[in-house]
Amino acid sequence: MPKYREIHTDVLVVGSGGTALRAILEADDAGAEVLAVIKGAFRKSGATFHSVAEVGAFNVPDGAGDPEDNPEVYSADILRAAQGMADDRLVSILANEAYDTMKYLERHGVHFEKKDGNYLVFRACFSSKPRSHVIKDHFKPVIKALGGEASRRGIKVLDQLMIVNLIARDGQCWGAYAIDADGQSVVIRAKSTILTTGGASQLFATNLYPTDITGDGYAMAYRAGAHLANMEFMQAGVSITEPFINLFGNYLWDAEPNLTDRNGERFIERHLPDNLSLSQVIAEKERHFPFSSSDISKYIEISIQKTINSGAGTDEGGVYMDFIGRDFDAILADESRSIANMWPLTYDWYKERGVDLYTDKVQIACSAHAINGGLRIDTDAQSNLKGLFAAGETAAGPHGADRLGGNMALTCQVFGARAGRAAALRAQNTGHLEISDIFEEQAEYLARFGGKGGSDVHDIRKRLQAVANRHLLIIRNEQGLKDFLLATEELREELYAAADISEPDRLKLAIENDNLIEVAQIMTRAALYRQESRGGHYREDFPTASDDHLHSVIHDRTVENGYFTSPLVEMN
Ligand SMILES: Cc1cc2nc3c(=O)[nH]c(=O)nc-3n(C[C@H](O)[C@H](O)[C@H](O)COP(=O)(O)OP(=O)(O)OC[C@H]3O[C@@H](n4cnc5c(N)ncnc54)[C@H](O)[C@@H]3O)c2cc1C
Repeated sequence: MPKYREIHTDVLVVGSGGTALRAILEADDAGAEVLAVIKGAFRKSGATFHSVAEVGAFNVPDGAGDPEDNPEVYSADILRAAQGMADDRLVSILANEAYDTMKYLERHGVHFEKKDGNYLVFRACFSSKPRSHVIKDHFKPVIKALGGEASRRGIKVLDQLMIVNLIARDGQCWGAYAIDADGQSVVIRAKSTILTTGGASQLFATNLYPTDITGDGYAMAYRAGAHLANMEFMQAGVSITEPFINLFGNYLWDAEPNLTDRNGERFIERHLPDNLSLSQVIAEKERHFPFSSSDISKYIEISIQKTINSGAGTDEGGVYMDFIGRDFDAILADESRSIANMWPLTYDWYKERGVDLYTDKVQIACSAHAINGGLRIDTDAQSNLKGLFAAGETAAGPHGADRLGGNMALTCQVFGARAGRAAALRAQNTGHLEISDIFEEQAEYLARFGGKGGSDVHDIRKRLQAVANRHLLIIRNEQGLKDFLLATEELREELYAAADISEPDRLKLAIENDNLIEVAQIMTRAALYRQESRGGHYREDFPTASDDHLHSVIHDRTVENGYFTSPLVEMN
């Protein structure tokens, strides 16, 4: 049996994004002993820290943008966008706790932008009211504020430690297995475990996410018997890909950018039905950043992805975009347009990075963004495995088929806080798992990577990402999804049989690849089942929504096919 060390804690928090930090502070406030374990660097990892957008949008229905806004109007917006796929209990909590959550962040030093003494707000994706409050430099200020507080309190942190699997027995979670920077195993016994590992967007060749976001939480939870839901509803949207990666804010469509292929030819018009004009499609696109199959703006992403898939994209895998010839004096004169409010911040952000948006051409593509699905949780953010909590992008329920822009960062805070409090309470009333030798299953899991070498883990990752872009990003159809499942099986066989894991870093990448493959198969099974198009999920062969699919796909590895279907809200 290889050597391993053991650690004990009340509450194990996996990650150090916005969700994790909030969970840590709440569990600490409740008197629990907390250990934070992070694969990367503490306070410097995850999507919350990753500024590839000029601002972060944070929804609060406080009436700052419209006196008629309130939690009820906000909840109705969320449920409308979710199209039957959200848990309305979680939605109601989110809407009602938003204001206090913003005040909590302000007390900890997060600055929300103001204009003329009032909160600066804009109407973000799928929203009926302007309620997205603005944090400059994306969500780095949240990390700085809450992470600073965690450090001041002396919270115990182990970074460069990757959680690999959960310790699960009889429907309960008792901590996790990890590997350290030297490739040595660590067993962490915890009375409560909070998964805040973010999403899985590194599955795709074009994505807006940092390299540590590889679906580890989803995959290990699924392996342990936790239920996942709504995994087919991942978001993707148009982003700048060259000369740097940046989210393309939806308000920018208001200036009607020029999109051209590798030959300088305009292409969107070719993909539009006869009854639709480019201006109509662009006007709809201005309402939301992520791709949605539920309205006519879908033709923009579909045409971009088809152009790239057909080989008419640039050598770097994008298409060209510019604003040359646009009358910005007229566009910015009308202050009721979101672009007028956001343009100064946006223009400066690009200029600082060497791009003059008035005159320069950049490259764009469809990039993977946040995932609306994740672990199925209750109002305490607890999963069906007792003692396993999940929040932020790792959990499902507060969102559905489409998600309001500005809702994820709020979700991270609201359910991170609930997870922290409930995990601390459970820890007060629970002991540790009374089994002495629990290392065997970690050894068994790691043994699957016992191949003879010869295949490079980076190369396997690249091939997985390329085939995911082709078959799972934006355009899905039965044959493509089946081809993708087959490709993931072959890549997994190669990973186990031949991946070179001679260095600890390579072993970590191999485990991440295994997790990405698990997530890819989960998403694909749901996408194959869902013979319809709804929100972020688009089936070319079933292009409209169907009432036969008004329930979520819930992944459970213990049942036939690995999933069942049910409304989310029926979980006890
Ligand atoms: C470009 C961009 C713009 C966005 N804009 C907005 C916006 O305006 N409004 C909004 O609401 N949302 C927005 N989002 C989404 C939002 O930022 C993320 O969904 C959110 O920050 C995720 O936070 P999190 O705490 O769940 O996870 P993350 O911040 O991603 O943190 C995950 C943590 O888990 C760690 N981890 C992962 N795997 C392991 C493992 N195996 N072991 C140990 N640690 C692990 C990571 O290292 C990291 O510390 C945006 C996202 C991006 C990328």
